[in-house]
Amino acid sequence: MSLIELKVPDIGGHDNVDIIAVEIKAGDTVALEQTLITLETDKATMDVPADAAGVVKEVKVKVGDKISEGGVIAVIEAAGAAAEAPKAAPAAEAPKAAAPAPQAAQFAGSADAEYDVVVLGGGPGGYSAAFAAADEGLKVALIEQYSTLGGVCLNVGCIPSKALLHNAAVIDEVKHLAANGIKFNEPEIDINGLRGYKEKVIAKLTGGLAGMAKARKVDIIRGNGQFVGANHIEVSLTESAQYEQATQTGEKKTVAFKNAIIAVGSRVVKLPFIPEDPRIVDSTGALELRQMPERMLIIGGGIIGLEMGTVYSTLGVRLDVVEMMDGLMQGADRDLEKVWEKMNAHRFDNIMTSTKTVAVEAKEDGIYVTFEGAKAPKEPQRYDLVLVAAGRAPNGKLCSAEKAGVAVTDRGFIEVDKQQRTNVPHIYAIGDVVGQPMLAHKAVHEAHVAAENCAGHKAYFDARVIPGVAYTDPEVAWVGVTEEIAKRDGIKITKSVFPWAASGRAIANGRDEGFTKLIFDAETGHIIGGGIVGTHAGDMIGEICLAIEMGCDAVDIGSTIHPHPTLGESIGMAAEVANGTCTDLPPQKKA
Ligand code: FAD
Repeated sequence: MSLIELKVPDIGGHDNVDIIAVEIKAGDTVALEQTLITLETDKATMDVPADAAGVVKEVKVKVGDKISEGGVIAVIEAAGAAAEAPKAAPAAEAPKAAAPAPQAAQFAGSADAEYDVVVLGGGPGGYSAAFAAADEGLKVALIEQYSTLGGVCLNVGCIPSKALLHNAAVIDEVKHLAANGIKFNEPEIDINGLRGYKEKVIAKLTGGLAGMAKARKVDIIRGNGQFVGANHIEVSLTESAQYEQATQTGEKKTVAFKNAIIAVGSRVVKLPFIPEDPRIVDSTGALELRQMPERMLIIGGGIIGLEMGTVYSTLGVRLDVVEMMDGLMQGADRDLEKVWEKMNAHRFDNIMTSTKTVAVEAKEDGIYVTFEGAKAPKEPQRYDLVLVAAGRAPNGKLCSAEKAGVAVTDRGFIEVDKQQRTNVPHIYAIGDVVGQPMLAHKAVHEAHVAAENCAGHKAYFDARVIPGVAYTDPEVAWVGVTEEIAKRDGIKITKSVFPWAASGRAIANGRDEGFTKLIFDAETGHIIGGGIVGTHAGDMIGEICLAIEMGCDAVDIGSTIHPHPTLGESIGMAAEVANGTCTDLPPQKKA
């Protein structure tokens, strides 16, 4: 009998990731692939499976600890040589090592229709792939189980949240005008009207997609698709009155494909200790605006939770937020987040960072939540509404990909190469199901790459950077190398900052709390990252993305004439700061 250390495998380059659950204790017998612990980053959770079986001698970690690749989880006494596993598929968010490739099933039936390309899933990844493939002249089918196209993003994600955030921003903006001598009465909020506006926005966009599919002669097949072989998908046809609700009609249709693109997306992570109760919602439930509570708890201080919190708070709800990490809005540099936090402190009664939720109990008069950690209140807290925004899990295991021979990781991600190909060369995967960051613009970019490859071109996902934006008030946007990443990875950088307190437009707007930061490679002088906090930051970060893609330096950006007076000017001025002279700021000290 030998002692074996069970360690954290490749977790997609993340370091110091929070442990949110420990599933084993000393004395347990663990089986191969059994979940040992669950990790959480700002956007997703992942289970770490055992890569050997045996009896647990010692558990080296506890909930709340942080761990990185190679960190020891437990020591086990191996159950014998036979129990030792070949290297397990890593439960990584952006998996690098191959998950085991299953044997494809042999499909002996006949197909109802044949296509050059079948796309499974009608989200931003799926519809973009289908439309791009059709634009290449290919015969395309798009399978979606719900009533409308657009996936999470258009139906229960990016778009409805921004429709509500827009209204919240106008209400907040109007309040700011009081300082300028313009006073409005308190708004009268007709929640049905607001919900109706959001629904109208969704309907306009999803209806538009249906029209564009028709114009391109893309066949939409309404149903749940499951692979039944390496070239066939069986679709159980559905009737669906609204997104995330479908009933099967009992009819089935089999489609044959030369190429398939898997775009099945992701779903909300459910925390096991949270009971079912209408007063406990996920992001979809929060977007429905069914209840206007007095006190609301947001579990998870990432972008989705904070955006929804902004909406509810503007509508008059008091907020608490609990986050296991030591700060909210992970991913963004702390100096950006601090500006947001200062401006938003009035919305919150408690910001509980480095704190975890340990128990949730539904009682008649409210939801009682118990916390543990640095900022945990001593007593359980009562809330009228709890929003669970603890991340999203990929749907790779929910479409029988293994029957097509496609490898899926233990966590449900599908591994792809730079051409978006899975281990089965004529089957591609895109969007949330292939890894972090789970963002619509990444899905669309990958979709175009996959579609071009289906058409026989040689296309690669070679974007240098993918921006992230929190559409809060103020907005926080960042891209590429952040100061935190530079510190972690030992990248030598220089940075330049332009404070919006010196921006004519920001001052005229009465919103000069923000700043624009550019990050340059200290050796080459090329821009490698940037961040903006302030109104419309999300609209402006694209210029920094372009500068990074084009390999610009500070002279390129600073010498580009930006229109005056604009917030976008702050990017040019931050570059001027990097070049040593910015005439909109006091003279810089010469070294
Ligand atoms: P999805 O949008 O998840 O679509 C997958 C589709 O496949 C679904 O419609 C599903 O029904 C269908 N499907 C799955 N399995 C099957 C099957 N077997 N058969 C048939 N159909 C199937 N991202 C941003 O970039 N910006 C934002 O501002 C933003 N805000 C967000 C706000 C919220 C509240 C949420 C929840 C997410 C937000 N996101 C945002 C993330 C964004 O929505 C996702 O990254 C994006 O939708 C992923 O696209 P996708 O095509 O990979 O998958």
